[in-house]
Amino acid sequence: MSRIRSTGSEPELKVRHVLSEAGFRYRLHAKDLPGKPDIVFRRLRLAVFVHGCFWHGHICREAKRPRSNLKYWSPKILGNMARDLRTSHRLRAAGWSCFVIRECSIETGLSRLLRKLASLR
Ligand SMILES: [Zn+2]
Repeated sequence: MSRIRSTGSEPELKVRHVLSEAGFRYRLHAKDLPGKPDIVFRRLRLAVFVHGCFWHGHICREAKRPRSNLKYWSPKILGNMARDLRTSHRLRAAGWSCFVIRECSIETGLSRLLRKLASLR
């Protein structure tokens, strides 16, 4: 029904595509977990987040900040970073592993994730 609206960001779609092609099954946007992880492997207790560099305060070329409205964006990004930290603490406290793939290094992140999944399977 609401498939189109809930498809996620472009980097997330790419990650999901590679995981599906590799034969992995997963849940999306698990509302019952801290931070509503983008991709969830329940049996393995592994939560995966695909982070856009700008929104999550990554310092890299990908995260080109808008020149205007810095006063508006900076607190928002700092808030996101603080929330990411709280989310990963809460997930770990609940016995979950937390895995972050960044927009600027999807390929590297994906191969690390695939290796981790293979080791858990
Ligand atoms: Zn980045």
